[in-house]
Amino acid sequence: MTNKLHIPSRLNISSTRQRILNGEITVFQLAKEHLELAKSTNEKINSFVTILEEEALKRAKDLDDMLRTSPEKAQQMKLFGIPFTVKDLYLVKNTKTTFASRYMEDFIAPYTATVVQKCLDEGAVLIGKTNCDPWGFGGSGENSGFGPTRHPLDFNKTPGGSSSGSAASLLSGVGYFSLGTDTGGSVRLPASFCGLYGYKPTYGRNSRFGIGAMGSSFDTPGFFTRYPEDLILLEEIMQGRDIKDATTDVTEDLMINRKPVIGIPQEFFNDSIDKDIKDAIYEKIEFFKTNDYEVRDISIPSTKYALAVYYILVPSEISSNRARYDGVRYGKKVSDDYEINMIEGRSKYFEKEVKRRIMIGTYCLSAGYGDEFYKKASKVRAKLKFEFQKAFNSVDLLITPVSPVTAFELGLKTNDPVQMYLVDVLSVTANLVGIPAISVPISKDSSGMPIGMQIMGPKWSDKYLFEFCINIK
Ligand code: GLN
Repeated sequence: MTNKLHIPSRLNISSTRQRILNGEITVFQLAKEHLELAKSTNEKINSFVTILEEEALKRAKDLDDMLRTSPEKAQQMKLFGIPFTVKDLYLVKNTKTTFASRYMEDFIAPYTATVVQKCLDEGAVLIGKTNCDPWGFGGSGENSGFGPTRHPLDFNKTPGGSSSGSAASLLSGVGYFSLGTDTGGSVRLPASFCGLYGYKPTYGRNSRFGIGAMGSSFDTPGFFTRYPEDLILLEEIMQGRDIKDATTDVTEDLMINRKPVIGIPQEFFNDSIDKDIKDAIYEKIEFFKTNDYEVRDISIPSTKYALAVYYILVPSEISSNRARYDGVRYGKKVSDDYEINMIEGRSKYFEKEVKRRIMIGTYCLSAGYGDEFYKKASKVRAKLKFEFQKAFNSVDLLITPVSPVTAFELGLKTNDPVQMYLVDVLSVTANLVGIPAISVPISKDSSGMPIGMQIMGPKWSDKYLFEFCINIK
């Protein structure tokens, strides 16, 4: 029996949309094909929590009708007929939304997340809700209350997390893009493990409204694509101020009208990084040099504290964000008694990692420790922001690895949370600082697993980073 999926080839979004508008394929045929693939691959890799077959087919029919009756309207929709998937942290009205936790397995969302709605308004067809770590707590997908997702290229390995099902389903050929969330690397890490593009926007660029909160000052709605040109198209649709999320902002895109100066921050190239990964990045750096990019070694000293700071501040925000899950407003009801209901419901149905994060966060915020941990970590976060600003005075963008390792065996790190947290060491900084970052597939390791390269830029340089990705393709 084979241990991997056959990966079908797919066109980019705009060519696929054009095929539909030209009448080469109907929206229904395309949706049907992607639903069938979602079902058959899901049996092997557990990439979905919910497949929305009935809803997707109905919508596809409606869109085909629209194309017949008002083609001008269809022509205007930028994602007309394009199948896509979303991580099960995004609310979609009247749809089961579990956040990949057993505690919420019966929850039906009362409204739709802003960014999902924007995709639907442009004519996209939602195929399903993808598996992930509960509320995004994890780096491998193994904390999911619905079992781990498997890597499409090796069923014994993780596709990375927490947006495990988004990356795995897209790699396996389902949909043309997938929405994930990135609080400390959960889009970029699985993108690098699966050989996809993974984008984490500038904090405040894409609305968080309708997404299960993890660490509110870190969370960013990002997405996965197969092609860099799809990133531009999608972000044009997704970004923008939303009155339902007060942290969204509109600022001019930061563009650079010359060949960028590339910074290589030395702290991201320590001994913990696999040799195959380092070699691949160094090879790329050589490519930049021979193609007349100016490349500078730089230092961002406080980077060495980033992981520690992240694992104080994020669990703190996680623990306070969990207060709404009391078994009354949200969550399992196990007793009529308020206190028993809350304690027993949470004890029984919250996954182990959910409890661990709540405990770490509560401890860090508790009287007496708040100053020692939370406040101190906040100060280092401010220092990091300052150091990054300084770095971007001398270089235009930064190149680093995404992760110290490539896709690893399922079970390898599940008994040692610190080992699991260490996988995030290179990705959390962008979230601490609020800057955009993209994982770009560049190579494969000796066992054939993909390797990603991370590109980071100053706040609001997102568009510029997309153009850079296309230029170096
Ligand atoms: N792996 C990181 C964590 O567990 C990042 C998670 C995320 O970005 N959602 O916190």
